[in-house]
Amino acid sequence: MLTVYPDYYPAFRCIAGDCRHSCCIGWEIDIDEESLAKYKAMPGPLGERLRSNISAGDPPHFVLGEGERCPFLNRCNLCDLILEGGEALLCQICGDHPRFRNFLPGRTEIGLGLCCEGAAALILSRTEPVTLVAEGTDDAPDRERDALLDLRQQAFAVAQDRTLSMDARCDRLLRLCHGCEPGHPADWADVLLELERLDDTWTAMVEKLAREGKTAPIPAVTDVEWEQLLVYFLYRHFLTAWEDGDVGSKAGFAVFSLRLLRCLKGLYPQIELAELARMYSAEVEYSTENLDVLFEELMI
Ligand code: SF4
Repeated sequence: MLTVYPDYYPAFRCIAGDCRHSCCIGWEIDIDEESLAKYKAMPGPLGERLRSNISAGDPPHFVLGEGERCPFLNRCNLCDLILEGGEALLCQICGDHPRFRNFLPGRTEIGLGLCCEGAAALILSRTEPVTLVAEGTDDAPDRERDALLDLRQQAFAVAQDRTLSMDARCDRLLRLCHGCEPGHPADWADVLLELERLDDTWTAMVEKLAREGKTAPIPAVTDVEWEQLLVYFLYRHFLTAWEDGDVGSKAGFAVFSLRLLRCLKGLYPQIELAELARMYSAEVEYSTENLDVLFEELMI
């Protein structure tokens, strides 16, 4: 089995108490079976505290406290489970976040999701073109899989061609993958407002996009940062074409995401790009339903 990850992956560290948008606030935290069994059997005060904060719903999850905080997130925004028992005590979802995984025959790809503040800052801080690191052996060669990987490699090469402007790279990427030209992101405001949304701030931003997006100033952000975002969206979503056979919508989504963030940065120059990317990721990328709507809209 091959395990693949972007070269920046090992450098990720959770910024814990310094995180302004902790993943331990506002998200339901489901508990996997193995962790649940461990929590049920745990002796002492920590075991009692664990059991009194678990809802036995389907799936079982921690009961969020005031402000939708995880009951184990203390006043310093640090995790009491880690402090008292170490990382081994975390349930699977907490141990994994913000990692995502894509599976292909004989190959698992791991990455860091942009909805994590620490991951977004790390990805956008990169100045060199991102490369992929592979560990293990390819014990299940598959021609179809390799054709998809080859096409994605070509897509990466276009996205990282620093002799071209970002607009030219996006055009070339869409041509390479026969992707749908998404047009101006302001024309997508109605679609975005139909999606499941988490935060009223995001709603207000999309409404402003609809009103003023087409006259938004060009943001002062370097091409390198846009490149890192484009590569991120390709890395995270391109291989999902393995399931539906449609690479065009995945390339279209990467270009759409980039243009939308560029437009939002023009409308909100005071907000850091990493924060805009984090919001977009939390609102759109972390909902399978939302992604499905956008992929479908982007199918030719
Ligand atoms: S969002 Fe990322 S940086 Fe923030 S607490 Fe969660 S894992 Fe850590």
